[in-house]
Amino acid sequence: MSALSALPPLPKLLRPTVRAVPAAVVLAAFVHLARGGFRGLVNLGWLEAFIVLALLAGLAVAAWRRFTRGAVGAPLYFRDDLELGGCLIASAFIVVAIAGGDLFPIVYLLMACLVAFLPRNTGLSLLGVALAFDALITLPISLTSFATHGLFLALFAGLYHLVLAARIAAARHAEDAAVEKRIKEVEERARTFRLVSSGSHDNLPDEKDEGKWLLASVKEVEGAVGAALEIAETALHTHTCAAFLLASDDKGLKLYDCRSLSERVQRERFSSGEGVLGGVLKRRAPVRMHSAQGLKGITWYDGGAPSVRSVLAVPIIEGGGLVRGVLVADRLEAKPFSDDDEKVLTTIASEVLRAIEVERVMSYIRKTRDEKDRFFRAIEELNRAGSPEQVFLAVLESARQLAGLDFCAVTVVSEVEGKRVHKVARMAGVTGQGKALEGRTFPDNNGLVANVVRYGAPLPGRDLKAMDRQVVFDEETQLRGLGALKIFPLTAGDRILGTLVAGARKKTALSHDVLRMLEVIAIQAAQAVLRAQLYEAMERMATTDGMTGLLNNRTFQARADELLAQTKRYGRKCSLLLTDVDHFKSVNDTYGHLTGDQVLKGVARILKEQARDTDIVARYGGEEFAILMPETEAEGAKVIAERIREAVKAEVFQTELGPLKVTMSLGVATAPDHGLEKLVLVEQADQCLYHAKRHGRNQSVTVDEMRTGKKLKAV
Ligand code: GH3
Ligand code: MG
Ligand code: MG
Repeated sequence: MSALSALPPLPKLLRPTVRAVPAAVVLAAFVHLARGGFRGLVNLGWLEAFIVLALLAGLAVAAWRRFTRGAVGAPLYFRDDLELGGCLIASAFIVVAIAGGDLFPIVYLLMACLVAFLPRNTGLSLLGVALAFDALITLPISLTSFATHGLFLALFAGLYHLVLAARIAAARHAEDAAVEKRIKEVEERARTFRLVSSGSHDNLPDEKDEGKWLLASVKEVEGAVGAALEIAETALHTHTCAAFLLASDDKGLKLYDCRSLSERVQRERFSSGEGVLGGVLKRRAPVRMHSAQGLKGITWYDGGAPSVRSVLAVPIIEGGGLVRGVLVADRLEAKPFSDDDEKVLTTIASEVLRAIEVERVMSYIRKTRDEKDRFFRAIEELNRAGSPEQVFLAVLESARQLAGLDFCAVTVVSEVEGKRVHKVARMAGVTGQGKALEGRTFPDNNGLVANVVRYGAPLPGRDLKAMDRQVVFDEETQLRGLGALKIFPLTAGDRILGTLVAGARKKTALSHDVLRMLEVIAIQAAQAVLRAQLYEAMERMATTDGMTGLLNNRTFQARADELLAQTKRYGRKCSLLLTDVDHFKSVNDTYGHLTGDQVLKGVARILKEQARDTDIVARYGGEEFAILMPETEAEGAKVIAERIREAVKAEVFQTELGPLKVTMSLGVATAPDHGLEKLVLVEQADQCLYHAKRHGRNQSVTVDEMRTGKKLKAV
């Protein structure tokens, strides 16, 4: 039991009395100073002595209260801080009053300290207390000196506050920098362990998670290795027992961890080819040496190495025979290591290795798990893609993300007039070609892409030596700077739709796993492309006329509505052309329906050729066609109508019964001149057409021509 707690508890009234001492004393000192007390040493009397003693007692009570509360972690009260500060300020003022105004700066200093160490609002309140004290003493004498005191007090308090804030910010910054440095160190260690291959995955999106996991892995390994070294140290009575691991380039050794009585174990990287350790690494076998005079080739101390007289070093070798580092134990006395010692150290070396291996396997599992996640996400993305464009984009994205490719392209193959044509549908990455490759078409050749389509198998089969000279697409296209390349066929059933071209700068980037993944992506991509193409074909079938390839009537109606709405909104012109083949019934009757169809296809082709890209050309029904021409006045429409009429008239259709020629009549109406509503416009154009038929056929008639009764061909 401590002496303090053995004291009898204070009587009930005594506690609040003691508690009131600081405030009361500050007040008393305050009043006495104001009344002119404490002026010079010679004038001090009993009252002053009593006040000073009481002040000391008050200080003691306030300080005791504050520090005991602080020590047990209880919340600190504003009042405690205020009382302590008040007592200190009162003491300072008494000292200044006794010694004269020259000592006033101690009040500034005290204020600065109080502001620095106490919370801000307490500091501010104490500043007020000090100003009040000063007012009582100096104001009756001099206003200017009160003003100067006040100014300096505020300045000191303010400056200290600023300095403190700046220092805290600096400390925080230093701490951040230290944490960053620590993370870098850990990463470096991880590289030594080859947990992370140097820099190859730097751009992966899950970098943050990877960092966290890496830290945990490295910590785990450090713990295991540390424990193993401690065992070795105790069991073998070593001076130093240290594990050095080979750096990723195998040329340097770096201390991983050690237990040593010396401070001078080499912490910097040193050559792995020299001294005793160099020998162990080269021979890949344990080495035991001792010499009463001290050994040579001790490279694991920096500068003043202790005189090592016995050494035992064993290599740390992986199952596959790869040397990862060396474990060394030494003694200063010439007491040679025994066979048993060697066995112990060899066991510990394998323990160290096991720890690293476990971490590596964990790292691999985690990496593949992440890869799988990304993989399935990519496949999902592919399956969601609707149009071929979206599919190509999804393919490139997933291939690049999953495999970290530097170059990636999708090519599609099609038949044009019985010949294969390849097209780079989409590409991404750096090739020296920029985006120029996208949309490029090339004929079947002896390049890799053409051959992959030809044989339906990935190419090249093995590593290519002169990658820059390899024809991937065609002779004119060169891919520069690639170290690895693989092209996969996009196979759907027995059809090959195109290829997936994957390239990377790094020679080793396309590992077995990556290739396997790309292969699956290619299969999925082919399915997606096929699906998208089917979808497009269905859409085409729904919107176009099967025989002529022109838009069907339903689509024409919808497009006409859109176009006329725009025409109305922007106050533009738009012309409609309706056509009808003359005496078509007799063509059918004389030459047969099949020939009739031939003629219709030919007419449709002519219409398509004569129309502009922005025109809407449709099979209106039977042997009637319609062309809706945006931004076209009646005069312009008439010119085109005549051009079409001439072209149809000039066309010769070859039939079994000899050559056949047909003519066509056309009606032209223009919005908004002849109506803005679709029905009205069609009705007007139809009337013109009828007018043309009635007046001799093989002619085009505009609404104005019809209305003005322009001289037309006689029947
Ligand atoms: P007109 O100069 O007055 O137009 O005389 P016409 O014989 O061309 O008369 P109309 O335009 O009324 O005749 C339409 C004919 O076109 C009737 C129909 O047999 C034929 N026809 C409609 N659709 C097709 C088709 O898809 N193929 C073929 N071969 N004939 C069709
Ligand atoms: Mg007709
Ligand atoms: Mg007709």
